[in-house]
Amino acid sequence: MHSLSLLITCEHGGNSVPADFRHLFVGHKALLRSHRGWDPGTLILGEELALRCTAPLIAATHTRLLVDLNRSPHHRHVFSEITKPLEKSTRGHLLGEYHSPHRHQIQQHVAQSIQAGGWVVHIGVHSFTPQLGSQVRNADVGLLYDPRRGPEAQFAHAWRQCWQTNSSLKVRMNYPYRGIADGLTTYLRTQFPQRYVGIELEINQRFPLGSSHSWEMIRASCRDSLSESLAGWTPVENLG
Ligand SMILES: [Zn+2]
Repeated sequence: MHSLSLLITCEHGGNSVPADFRHLFVGHKALLRSHRGWDPGTLILGEELALRCTAPLIAATHTRLLVDLNRSPHHRHVFSEITKPLEKSTRGHLLGEYHSPHRHQIQQHVAQSIQAGGWVVHIGVHSFTPQLGSQVRNADVGLLYDPRRGPEAQFAHAWRQCWQTNSSLKVRMNYPYRGIADGLTTYLRTQFPQRYVGIELEINQRFPLGSSHSWEMIRASCRDSLSESLAGWTPVENLG
């Protein structure tokens, strides 16, 4: 019997701006408040999932417009149009002060759990804008994973099954993004080929930005379905 530990993270939990960088955002209040600035709803959802499943939460609450914690350090979108023009030393400071500590803490946690002989299920909590340009997103929830990783695919499908059995929510796989695109879970998969399951949970922002009733409902079904699918899941080592 494998031990299984759950880790919840929020890379885009808030849109706060550290005092040293406030001058950069003068005149950009609307951008900061938009989906480009943060993932509304993810911090409270992450806190509730962690509480319900007795798991640690590692959450960042600075705006992603400063430095995007869900992008690799050399990715062309790790800095936004606000921070890309800054001097190299300032960008280096942003990476060292905000980007690396968050990712390092998560990687350390996963490494320790795996070294202790267990499996780690890591849920990165995100939310997506209901409409991007002319494209209306037709899902309530997305679960992003790597289809080539057997245990990960298995867990993602089990979670979706649980969720759809107990609610009328539309849960789509690898939507609105692909699980293997650049991101924290994609990076961690390269570091932990075995016993790491990295899923990005994507919630449609029409819930946190809409009626409090439907937002509470989706959070409850998220907590229930995650806890149920974890309880019913036995990971099998990928021998391939
Ligand atoms: Zn996000």
